[in-house]
Amino acid sequence: MMLPPRVRDLALRLDAEDALPAYAYDLGALTAHAAAIRDALPRSVEFYYAVKANPDARVLHTVAGHADGLEVSSSGERAHTASAVPGGKVAFGGPGKTAAEITAAVRAGTHRFHVESPHELRTLAEAARAAGRTVDVLLRVNPSGSGAGLGAGFGGVALVMGGRPSPFGMDLALLNACADTLASPGSGSVRLRGLHAHLASGLDADGLLASARTLLGFGRGWCSARGVRDPEFNLGGGMAVDYRRPDSVFDWARYGRGLAALVCPGETLRIEPGRAVTAYCGWYLSRVLDVKQSHGEAFAVVAGGTHHLRTPAAKGHDQPFAVIDVPGWTPGWERPATGTGSVTVCGQLCTPKDILASRVQLLRLRAGDLIAFGLAGAYAWNISHHSFLMHPEPTFHYL
Ligand SMILES: *Cc1c(COP(=O)(O)O)cnc(C)c1O
Repeated sequence: MMLPPRVRDLALRLDAEDALPAYAYDLGALTAHAAAIRDALPRSVEFYYAVKANPDARVLHTVAGHADGLEVSSSGERAHTASAVPGGKVAFGGPGKTAAEITAAVRAGTHRFHVESPHELRTLAEAARAAGRTVDVLLRVNPSGSGAGLGAGFGGVALVMGGRPSPFGMDLALLNACADTLASPGSGSVRLRGLHAHLASGLDADGLLASARTLLGFGRGWCSARGVRDPEFNLGGGMAVDYRRPDSVFDWARYGRGLAALVCPGETLRIEPGRAVTAYCGWYLSRVLDVKQSHGEAFAVVAGGTHHLRTPAAKGHDQPFAVIDVPGWTPGWERPATGTGSVTVCGQLCTPKDILASRVQLLRLRAGDLIAFGLAGAYAWNISHHSFLMHPEPTFHYL
């Protein structure tokens, strides 16, 4: 894949300083990308960033400069976000919110709550009443039939979470139970503002627009029957990142035009992407430690591994990378190298699952060369099992 010269220069400098493996976040590229996303969306569509994709404080701060708010899914993320981006608008979602988390979020003045169940709604109503506050909620919905036609993402199989039995969101019966609770006397501490859905992950623009139509087709009628004026619809995230074609990005312009055609006067549409916002700004930089042949196949072992970059193991893909040739070789024996052909790139863990890229065609890879894995800015360091085998942690750098 294409390696920006500034990332290459950083990798060579870190190698000289013995500071590999390392993560590099290109904040300049992230600024440009987040600004382009905001520009591609109509003004009437709000752009929240899903913090779980990458909560790095400087990444958050950079994205927040171009987003309308941040979506968090735990008290930990909420407190961290409040300190990284003081005063930013926050939506609190996710399953299994505890009463203590809900109380703390109410006291903190959380902008929107995404409610996952009737029990959670009651807990929230009570916490709000006790705090003497009124909170604004979106009910997370899992509409029937919403999974149909959602499998057609680019870059592999979409992860569908709607339209089928799921711990996420509510089908019509539970949604109506929530509405009854909201209409009951004494529920004044909770204000219903609309619906939230996050039905699939890994969709292209047309797939996401189809999913938006499903939610709006159901949600407009449901909200108006429940007396919700100027409803809000949070369409979720799930914009695809294609790890096989790292240079092709989600078509934000097409998506933005589609949303502009969908939105009705008086209503607010909101999206909360994560992966497609930050994936591209992150690089995991490492050095090839060893190269050898095994039963006719070449293997390269790099410093670090999937305990730093779990993304390829979690998603089942080859992490795209660029090789940086390092000419110097000081040991007094022949430099280990692959021939022309394919090579499997793995890490230092004692498990056959520690594979970053499998049977990749390469001209040559030698011990001492550097590797820059791209698309490592989302669901990468923060989802990895850092302490397995107790190797040193990577160093972190910002461009
Ligand atoms: C994970 C998640 C997102 C972000 O998904 P991406 O695939 O990273 O865009 C948005 N909303 C909810 C509710 C989520 O769980």
